[in-house]
Amino acid sequence: MLRWIDVLLFARYGNPEPPQQIRYPEARWQHLLTAEQFAVLRGKATEPPYRNAYCRSYAPGRYHCAGCGTALFEAATKYHAISGWPSFTQPVAKNCIRYAFDDSHHMQRMEALCNVCGGHLGHVFPDGPAPAGLRYCINSASLELRAE
Ligand SMILES: [Zn+2]
Repeated sequence: MLRWIDVLLFARYGNPEPPQQIRYPEARWQHLLTAEQFAVLRGKATEPPYRNAYCRSYAPGRYHCAGCGTALFEAATKYHAISGWPSFTQPVAKNCIRYAFDDSHHMQRMEALCNVCGGHLGHVFPDGPAPAGLRYCINSASLELRAE
């Protein structure tokens, strides 16, 4: 189970080795993704709160990266955070997400990125439910729910 201290250590001293790496030129991403997916995954945009596909969805399955298909979150770890975006307590694996300090927009936040393709997912906060205390606040546009 990952905790906030693990996230801080990853961001500061190095992220876990990804299972594989996918690096495409931005033009290829633009071709592969919808305009909204491209803006979020490659441009670090944030979709509007509540008006996004998975905010209120609690269907079973597994959430994958909309860029490269890497499994990121089990639907069972999704919870109602009242934030306006899909929120999860833990990733499916320690090495599927990478972390980076994000000082943009006059805030100090922890960015969550796909560790395989480098796509922007959202942010992680230390105010999630026990026992881990993590809240992965993720853009729906970065995710694809697949029934398992
Ligand atoms: Zn990815």
